[in-house]
Order: sequence, then structure tokens, then C-alpha cells
Amino acid sequence: MNAEIIAVGSELLLGQITNTNARFLSQHLAEIGVNIYYHTVVGDNEAQLEDAVILAQKRADLIIFSGGLGPTKDDLTKETIARLIGTTLEYNEEALQSIEAYFAKTGRIMTENNKKQALVIKDSIILKNDNGMAPGMFAKADGTYYMLLPGPPREMQPMFLNYGRPEILKTMEKVERIESRVLRFFGIGESALETEIDDILMKQANPTIAPLAGDGEVILRITAKHESPDEAFRLIQQAEEEILERVGAFFYGYEDTTIAAELAAKLKEKQVTIAAAESLTGGLFLGELTAIPGTSAFVKGGVVCYTNEVKEQVLHVNKETLDARGAVSAECAKELAQNVRKLCDAHIGISFTGVAGPDKLEGQEPGTVFLAIAFEGKETIVHPLKMAGSRAGIRKRTVKYGCHYLLQ
Ligand code: ATP
Ligand code: MG
Repeated sequence: MNAEIIAVGSELLLGQITNTNARFLSQHLAEIGVNIYYHTVVGDNEAQLEDAVILAQKRADLIIFSGGLGPTKDDLTKETIARLIGTTLEYNEEALQSIEAYFAKTGRIMTENNKKQALVIKDSIILKNDNGMAPGMFAKADGTYYMLLPGPPREMQPMFLNYGRPEILKTMEKVERIESRVLRFFGIGESALETEIDDILMKQANPTIAPLAGDGEVILRITAKHESPDEAFRLIQQAEEEILERVGAFFYGYEDTTIAAELAAKLKEKQVTIAAAESLTGGLFLGELTAIPGTSAFVKGGVVCYTNEVKEQVLHVNKETLDARGAVSAECAKELAQNVRKLCDAHIGISFTGVAGPDKLEGQEPGTVFLAIAFEGKETIVHPLKMAGSRAGIRKRTVKYGCHYLLQ
């Protein structure tokens, strides 16, 4: 089934409100396997609405309208649809009673134009409005279905879920479920990841795999359609296994988790404590980690060692290291990680030193970063990084790299 959503309202066109109804309806229609190919917005204007309906009739099996069911002159959705499908409006007794009851309950005086809200398209199925007065409608004409819903989201949403959606389901022969899963990756660029799984992306049909990149991360959304949710789930699982076989080293979690949250969970589970020496990140790393509840179990503390004095006096980096190699160096990173670990009595010490930009530092380009991880009883590992981008981007990605290497 192909559907189109037509939102009616001049305030939408003027940018005064956002078309959240279309978003809500699209999400819920996708879940039951209804394809949405178009979103249309028109003003409270009969000619515009008519044009939109005529176009939609050519390309959709189901047209869903939001807005314009109210009592005022500019509310003209049902009048227009009734005329276009060659029928009329009639009073619906039940709707009239519920409007009267609504007025009695709220203690307001019912005016004549409120009665207009009990006018419905002849022979349509009435969708009850449990949160307002205007009922919704579901009609069929010449093989096209029409669903009319009120504009206010608090009326439209429950009406659609409780009364509208079941009517759509009744008309569908087989209901395809749509299941999806998000896989999150860090440490690999979007194009590199796509190259690795190029053939999987090429052959995709069901499930589909959609890559999305941002903030130094790549996410893959795997979406499968099937009548049986179990089968959709199996298709997703299969695609996931194929993908992770290739790029599993960069995978860190599902859905809307963050890499810091994954690290926190791992440290907690392994009962490993951590301390950080943060130069260019200025506390961002521990800020991210401590934003997660329950961190006191594994975060020991740290030092924001922004200047060389603090690196030398608080974290005891050798003066010779700073003089000969500079603060932006593998040696400095190594000493910072080892010394902060000892200072805070943690299992792991991690350090971040580098150039966030926009200016060069010690003759080094912005995005030059050394990240070191000192593990109790093991050799300290230094990861030299080269990043491009803004100061904010470099700092954020440095933190994510820290999490990434600690998760390895
Ligand atoms: P009413 O009985 O309140 O007049 P109605 O069905 O006639 O309802 P409209 O007059 O078109 O609907 O819109 C009423 C209000 O509903 C708008 O002012 C706006 O706050 C909200 N609304 C309308 N359309 C949308 C939409 N597409 N997305 C989000 N909110 C909407
Ligand atoms: Mg209105």
C-alpha cells in the first residue's frame, strides 16, 4: 500500500509550526509496512487542497489528511474531500452527542458552528476523538482510501493509533512488519567502511542497509521487511554477521548508545579503574565518562594538564622530555599516562596531548594528537593520531579515540 500525507494548515507554510504530524504518521505507517512516497503541505485554501488531492489520487492508495477539521471557516478539509469524491456531509448523531457531552463536561457554551464538527463524510467510518471534538473519518471512493485526522497532535495521535491504524490494517491483505537495527562504528571513515562492505551494499534488497556518518562515527541502519517479525529479525541478524565479519573491529554498539557509555559498561564489568591526564581535551574525556551514572566504581580522577608547568609539576613529566620532544610528543603522552595512573592509583592511565587548533603548536599542525594508555604491569601504548576539522571536532574525536582504544 502506498500512502501520501497531506497536512493542511497555513501556519505550517508560514513556518510557525513544524509538521510533526507527518513525521508521526510516517513512522507509524512504516511500522506496518505502508510505503510513504510523498508529504504534502497546503494552506487553509480550498483550491490548493483540491490540487494536492487530485495529484495524490494519481499516486497513492491511501491519502491521509491532518488538520482543518475544526469548527471555523478556514477549516475546510472534509468539505473539500466530500465534494471531490462526489458525496456530501451529513450529521453524525454519535458525534453530535459526544460534542454536547464535551461541552457539558468542560462547562462551556456550545455555539452553532461547533455543531459543524459533527458533520462527517456520508458513509465514512467515524474515528472517535477521545481528546477533542472533531471526529476523524475513513472513506473509500474509486479504489482510493481517505483518512481525515484533526490537526492538534494530542487529538490526532491517539485517534490514529486507536482507531485509524486498525482501519488501515483491515484493508491490507498481508501486513509486512518492518524491523530495523542500528550498528555504530568508530575509527573507520564512511568511505573506507563502505569499501569494505561494498558487495554487501550492492546486493541489498531486503534487508536494506543505509550508512550515515557524522561526528567521526559511521552508523549503519539495517532494515528488513517481512510478514513475520521473527523472519525480519533473522534477515537483520544475517546481514549484521556478514558486516561484522569484515568491520567488526570498529563496531562498538547498537541503537543510540555512545562509545563512552560502552566504555563505562566495560570498565564497570571488568572492575578496572581509570585515571586521565587531559591536555588538549581539557577534561572532556572524564566529563563524558562521569556523565554516566555509577561512574564512581571505576573513575579514579585525573588532571587537566593544559600547561607545561602542570605537566611538569603535577604530573612529573621530565623537563628534558618537554624541552627536547615538546608537549605534543609520544614521549610526553607516555609519561603523562604512566604518572597519572600512579598519582590516582588506578589500573589504567590514559593521556591526551596534542594540537586542537586553530593555530599550530610547537610547529605541529592542528589535529596532531598523541594518546597513551598505561596499563598496570603492561607496556604503555602510544597512539599517534592525525585528524582534520575544527577545534571542537578534534577535541571530541580525540575523546572518542580514547574510548575506542580502551575498548579494544
Ligand atoms: P481545531 O479543531 O483545533 O481547529 P483542526 O483539525 O482544524 O483543529 P487545524 O486548525 O489545522 O486543525 O490545526 C490546529 C492546531 O493543530 C494548529 O494550530 C497546530 O498547533 C496543530 N497542528 C495542525 N497541523 C499540524 C501538523 N501538521 N503538525 C503538528 N501540529 C499541527
Ligand atoms: Mg482548525
